[in-house]
Amino acid sequence: MTRDAVAEFLSSVSAELGEIEQAGLYKRERELTTAQSARIATTAGASLNFCANNYLGLADDPRIVTAAKDALEEWGFGMASVRFICGTQSPHRALEEEIADYLGLADSILFSSCFDANGGLFEVFFGPEDAIVSDSLNHASLIDGIRLTKAKRLRYANADLDDLRARLEEARDANCRRIAIVTDGVFSMDGSYAPLEGICDLADEFGALVIVDDSHATGFVGEQGRGTHELLGVMGRVDIITGTLGKALGGASGGFVAGPSEVVDLLRQKARPYLFSNAVAPAVVAGSRQALSLARAADAERVQLRANAALFRSLMEEEGFDLLPGTHPIIAVMFPGDDGARLATEIADAMLDDGVYVIAFSFPVVPRGKARIRVQLSAGHTEADIRACVRAFVEARARVAGN
Ligand SMILES: *Cc1c(COP(=O)(O)O)cnc(C)c1O
Repeated sequence: MTRDAVAEFLSSVSAELGEIEQAGLYKRERELTTAQSARIATTAGASLNFCANNYLGLADDPRIVTAAKDALEEWGFGMASVRFICGTQSPHRALEEEIADYLGLADSILFSSCFDANGGLFEVFFGPEDAIVSDSLNHASLIDGIRLTKAKRLRYANADLDDLRARLEEARDANCRRIAIVTDGVFSMDGSYAPLEGICDLADEFGALVIVDDSHATGFVGEQGRGTHELLGVMGRVDIITGTLGKALGGASGGFVAGPSEVVDLLRQKARPYLFSNAVAPAVVAGSRQALSLARAADAERVQLRANAALFRSLMEEEGFDLLPGTHPIIAVMFPGDDGARLATEIADAMLDDGVYVIAFSFPVVPRGKARIRVQLSAGHTEADIRACVRAFVEARARVAGN
């Protein structure tokens, strides 16, 4: 490019940045000066953290840190290879087997992230003769992964079984070879669950596969933390589960697809983000194995997490806040209407000044008029932390909204 052409390019990029800023959508990253935990410090000062996906409080667990350190010594820093050339060590396979065993499926395959798992999954199995029926609130990585296929794409209204049935009828009438129903197990902006029992019933009726992304569930949803399929009584009826190691399971990085062994085998042969991207680092694999083992045994933490979410809900409702209903540790505090986006943002900012870190979401991340502050509870929060969070909500509301 000539100098002039570069200048023109950069000036149009600046203009776009300006538009983002103007629309109030510019994302500024707050820098943590500590490890990830329920109590952190940022460059703005100390705070209680209510916006991480650290559901079991494992992100800085010393047992995981030790396992990762030991693996650095034993297995080295990095693989410098994709899995199928020379990037597979014994711990990689062990973790894959352990994930599958926990979820109640035959096998699993690791990816660099769940984003990549979802990005690689669909194009291996679905072509122009197939149909993918997808919930309207599905995660961006599912949407992108589905877009990479030439399959017929049908969208149903969030968690709406009547609409799902109508889309399945459409797929059946088109004589599709394969039909898949794809949903998040937990919708991350609402903290609501997919109606998996109804979905599995419809899947039986229409001969469809059920694919669930359980990123906001694996490790803590359900009695043993196996996920939404455990909670909703459909273990053995969900065909394929994708998930992340970057949330409850220690929070480092990595994702997986779990399912029948033929599915996993074909992904190893053909999934592009698997074939053409580096193996997960050994220390992350070892730390994640330790995290998974801790999660399996974390009955007390799961009880604590449920109690924390219930306490937060009841205290906030007593104070007259408007919460989306549910039981998941993602709790949406709603600020509806035209002024909601401003209110939510100003309240979240005021709370940070009080040492409580929460984040406001507004359009286009959530529908217009449905702004919210999303609070995420962790088993690592104490009752005092939760009461401090509620107090900060009450005081910030008084300051910002004058009530
Ligand atoms: C967080 C999340 C992902 C992305 O997981 P990464 O491992 O961080 O790429 C994918 N799907 C859902 C539903 C998620 O919540």
